[in-house]
Amino acid sequence: MRSFFRFIKNLLLLSLLAFGVWSYQNNPDIHTATNDSVAVLKQKIGQFITTGNLQLPQAGDTHTQSPNKTQFSSSESVTKTSNRRWPNATAKVYLNIQNNPVLRSASIDAMNAWNRTGAFNFVQTDNKSAAQIIIGVVDDSDTSAAGETSTTYNPVTGHLLRAKVNLNRYYLQNRWYGYNQNRIINTAEHELGHAIGLDHNNGVSVMYPKGSVYTIQPGDIKAVQKLYKEK
Ligand SMILES: [Zn+2]
Repeated sequence: MRSFFRFIKNLLLLSLLAFGVWSYQNNPDIHTATNDSVAVLKQKIGQFITTGNLQLPQAGDTHTQSPNKTQFSSSESVTKTSNRRWPNATAKVYLNIQNNPVLRSASIDAMNAWNRTGAFNFVQTDNKSAAQIIIGVVDDSDTSAAGETSTTYNPVTGHLLRAKVNLNRYYLQNRWYGYNQNRIINTAEHELGHAIGLDHNNGVSVMYPKGSVYTIQPGDIKAVQKLYKEK
């Protein structure tokens, strides 16, 4: 009897999904992600048939920091800032996004949002080799991350040397995962937060590790101001 109800519940979920894809395919503004949605739906139907269960995915992000070139993964942290920072509260950013206007404009909006706080200033550059931060796009279903940031820093000074931000279009531009424009911008703000030395914060913060539901909060601005106060 219980499994019967689960079957009905999943059947309902599936019909909701099919509707989502249908409305998607009929909306010309966002049809670029349609193929992804169909692929995910097929995958989910397969999962449903074999296991009788539907698992709704949740995308988070990963953040790795490395002293110079050696890579290691940092664990989840509730600390607001690392001690890594750029020498000054400004960094040159190269947007390595040519064919994705949605993620390109979200990146620019995220930089502007940080710039409006007055705590940090991102300056866009066309010179890739002069850039301190590079923002790019990946299409990666093998990770659960909607965004990824890796940084290198000088272990003696604690100063950041380079940061690489990747926005994962597999999640961000896939209707199944429910990212609207605001959440895409929040994701870019979050990754830029890592790129300037912020760690995760499990409270109400743009650095909340999952879901990209918060934009930059007063506490985030204070954390950046504190990190970049002249020592
Ligand atoms: Zn993160």
